[in-house]
Amino acid sequence: MIKAVIFDLDDTLYGYEALDREARGRVCELVCAKLGIAAADYEEAYAYGRRETKRQLGDVAASHNRLLYCQKTLEYLGVNPVPLSLRMYETYWGTFLEKMRLFEGVREFMDRMREQGIVMMICTDLTAHIQHRKIEALGIAKDIRYLVTSEEAGKEKPAPEMFALCLKKLGMQPEEVCYIGDSQVKDVEGAAAAGIRAVRFYPDMPGAEQYGKLAEMILAAGRS
Ligand SMILES: [Mg+2]
Repeated sequence: MIKAVIFDLDDTLYGYEALDREARGRVCELVCAKLGIAAADYEEAYAYGRRETKRQLGDVAASHNRLLYCQKTLEYLGVNPVPLSLRMYETYWGTFLEKMRLFEGVREFMDRMREQGIVMMICTDLTAHIQHRKIEALGIAKDIRYLVTSEEAGKEKPAPEMFALCLKKLGMQPEEVCYIGDSQVKDVEGAAAAGIRAVRFYPDMPGAEQYGKLAEMILAAGRS
């Protein structure tokens, strides 16, 4: 019997790519206007900032911290990063969070789970601060009972620590839990290695159909 559902967040509950593209475009416009540089030069600096942050930090939550990308972008451009980094960061997240919408089918799925008393939680790479803001922006803060981030676990998916911490918070056995996520390696294989039944979500395919099928599977498991 399934007693809990664990969701990945990005590209599982909402679509990341289009929002990221739009938000990055807004930051590019801001910096180009402020510094009087061409978009291509900004993009080169941004690519450096992101790459350097990831190279220095490896697989930890801070490697996704956009404030670090912003600082390094400006450092690469040879300007003082202090006056502009935070504004870049807030432009990015302001744009992103304002436009976030749940995939079709998620709201209905969560309502069905709640009716059955099935607990819902999120297991996600990245820092707790931003993931809390996303959950709030999506309007699902009251649906989600627990959150595990890679910042908290100290490791990123598919590390077993992430899934072990989820089970610990739930106080459940792996076979009582179902996991849904878009990454074959991080989500599906990570959860499966912890003995958790995992279902892959395809963000480019209709969400309502996928969440509908998942609800049927979970409710059928409850009846058996
Ligand atoms: Mg994801």
